[in-house]
Amino acid sequence: MSDAVSAPVYGRVALIGLGLIASSMFWAMKRGGLAGEVTGYARSEATRATARRIGLCDRVCDSAIDAVKDADLVVLCVPVGAMGAVAQEIAPALKAGATVTDVGSVKRHVIEAVTPHLPQDVHFVPAHPLAGTEHSGPEAGFAELYDNRWCLLVPVDGTAPEAVAQLRALWEGMGANVDEMDADHHDLVLAVTSHAPHLIAYTMVGVADDLRRVTDSEVIKYSAAGFRDFTRIAASDPTMWRDVFLTNKDATLEILGRFTEELFALQRAIRTGDGAHLHEYFTRTRAIRRGIIEAGQDTAAPNFGREAPKP
Ligand code: NAP
Repeated sequence: MSDAVSAPVYGRVALIGLGLIASSMFWAMKRGGLAGEVTGYARSEATRATARRIGLCDRVCDSAIDAVKDADLVVLCVPVGAMGAVAQEIAPALKAGATVTDVGSVKRHVIEAVTPHLPQDVHFVPAHPLAGTEHSGPEAGFAELYDNRWCLLVPVDGTAPEAVAQLRALWEGMGANVDEMDADHHDLVLAVTSHAPHLIAYTMVGVADDLRRVTDSEVIKYSAAGFRDFTRIAASDPTMWRDVFLTNKDATLEILGRFTEELFALQRAIRTGDGAHLHEYFTRTRAIRRGIIEAGQDTAAPNFGREAPKP
């Protein structure tokens, strides 16, 4: 991604919700000159005050209605469980011909929650940037978050191709690679690549926390790379992840069912001393890691390119 400033893709963009994802979008849009004016709204006075203090958004509004007035693009950047209520609130103020999009981690639920509220003369193009960190809030964002990451567009039936193409141009301008996907397929793929792994990390850290009571601080003191990576994932925002599991229930349960079967098979291999099974399994999984690095989605540097922790 170059820092070259191009012609704005949208005249006015409204960001509803001002956390990690929205603030990263703002800085990336500024970097690329992709929007004429960006308005923003967050429900709490504290978040709006922080946004004003750090210059997040050209104009921070005290109501969602004010923020979306005359906007060409409205981006819903709130937890998945809040999307429907926010759509209902802003619907009367949307400009005819505007595009509404969202960044939610689950797509079928968001489509069902948002679509009924939107006027006929507004385009709805759901989206999901596959980028994030364990940090949240208005100060967590940075312009490079989407560079070389995927953003999946999940257009609903009958969406105007021009509206999809314009949103694609925005995400590409923010550094992302863009693909289109059907909502149910998206939810299944994300259950495998993100949702189930988060639940497993939450569980592992929970187990270690129980154990910590037995072994005092050893779990923290001798925390090895594997466990530290779990704790990073398990530090993700509790509200966001509660909503992900409640709204992507079927796909997550399907993947967890398969996970449990595989875990039992590995457990059995350990109990019966079946080293060949373990070795074959770990050889297969190692190849997946190589594939991710070759696809440019992670670094081959030791410790994920992070500095070694101080002893
Ligand atoms: P975040 O940093 O926690 O920010 C969430 C924002 O939503 C805050 O401005 C918050 O307002 C507002 N909000 C929370 N609950 C609300 C409610 N009930 N009604 C109205 N506004 C509410 O979250 P984020 O990480 O940016 O995530 C936003 C969306 O992006 C979520 O749908 C998430 O699934 C999706 N997403 C997240 C990631 C990730 O890794 N974090 C990656 C891809 C997609 P206050 O500050 O005023 O409380």
